[in-house]
Amino acid sequence: MEVKVDQIEKRSWVEVNLGQIERNYKLYKESLPLDVEIMAVIKADAYGHGDAKIATLLSSLGVNIFAVSNIDEAVGLRNAGIRGDILILGYSSPIYARTLHYFDLTQAIVSEEYAFELAKTGYEIKCQFAIDTGMNRIGISSGNAEEAASIVRGFSSILHVTGVFTHLCVADGESEEDNSFTSEQLHRFKAVVDRISDLNLPYVHCYNSAGGLYHLKDDEFNNKIGKIVRLGIALYGLKPDRNNVLPDGIKPAMTWKSVVSRVQQLPVGATVSYGRTFTTNRPSIIATVTTGYADGFSRRLSNHGFVMINGYKAPIVGRICMDQTMVDVTDLPEVKMGDVVVLMGECGKLIYTADDMAKDLDTIGYEIICGISKRVQRFYVK
Ligand SMILES: *Cc1c(COP(=O)(O)O)cnc(C)c1O
Repeated sequence: MEVKVDQIEKRSWVEVNLGQIERNYKLYKESLPLDVEIMAVIKADAYGHGDAKIATLLSSLGVNIFAVSNIDEAVGLRNAGIRGDILILGYSSPIYARTLHYFDLTQAIVSEEYAFELAKTGYEIKCQFAIDTGMNRIGISSGNAEEAASIVRGFSSILHVTGVFTHLCVADGESEEDNSFTSEQLHRFKAVVDRISDLNLPYVHCYNSAGGLYHLKDDEFNNKIGKIVRLGIALYGLKPDRNNVLPDGIKPAMTWKSVVSRVQQLPVGATVSYGRTFTTNRPSIIATVTTGYADGFSRRLSNHGFVMINGYKAPIVGRICMDQTMVDVTDLPEVKMGDVVVLMGECGKLIYTADDMAKDLDTIGYEIICGISKRVQRFYVK
């Protein structure tokens, strides 16, 4: 049965606006030089938005390079009918060599040792070498460009090497120091790329969302290393860093909703929830909301955050429970059982994004949207 979005009355659910994802993609792409291609980063279930759905939408818009974090995500996409290149950005055990090959997946090479192990399996696996230019996470160190280049070259006759890439660690930073570190990383990467230009690798890339926005210039230098941007967070309408500015019109595509299960009047001096950390200091009306920390609603918002009901803010009172949360609705127009609660997104004139919640929790928007758990069903709106 097809459920219309305005009829959804789940316990806790997310509405993903696919039209907004499409606008974000187009606006981001328009901000880049014309010939720059997008690799859509849809790891972690497309940052919680639903990877198959997002990949299908982007495929229809002409995207045919995708990146995920692991082999299960990659196989899931193939099983959902996604074609094109799928790059696995992190380690897959070499015992999965046959699977990588069978599903025509592209594996990131995380070290020289790893390349040897993959090569030993005898499968001519599609792969791209990660080059470590300063993140110190994965890849062949670019400390000696000559050596890094010769490692890639050596394996190009054994494995099916389709590219090289690096990852920037402060592309979202604004300080002089961050900018010079990024520039250093780009130069180190280019030094390796220059030494293997004869291999004519089709996939050479280094920019994430922030890199594409703030460091990609349309010049000779970039012609060598910057023709593909790995677009993640900005596709979902969030900022790489709280201080960043996104192109006009790029906005979050996700709204997280829940409902009121019960409303009760409490006298002065009553306490709410585990640990009795909240005491009413006036006759109060307390509503119970059917979302808790097991849904990804951070317990650190206890006595600290708020939810939105009918266009008003209702402060969270007491500790957030596993599946439920209590809020103070004393100052709101009448709240009833079944009223829709917005935890994140737009509600009347109010807007509270994952970036806003991240600020309140001293983290990043990425962690908020990836943290909304599986049991929170995703619905799609245009
Ligand atoms: C996650 C990831 C990205 C995307 O980064 P955003 O900041 O979300 O754009 C790009 N490249 C690599 C290697 C990643 O792991």
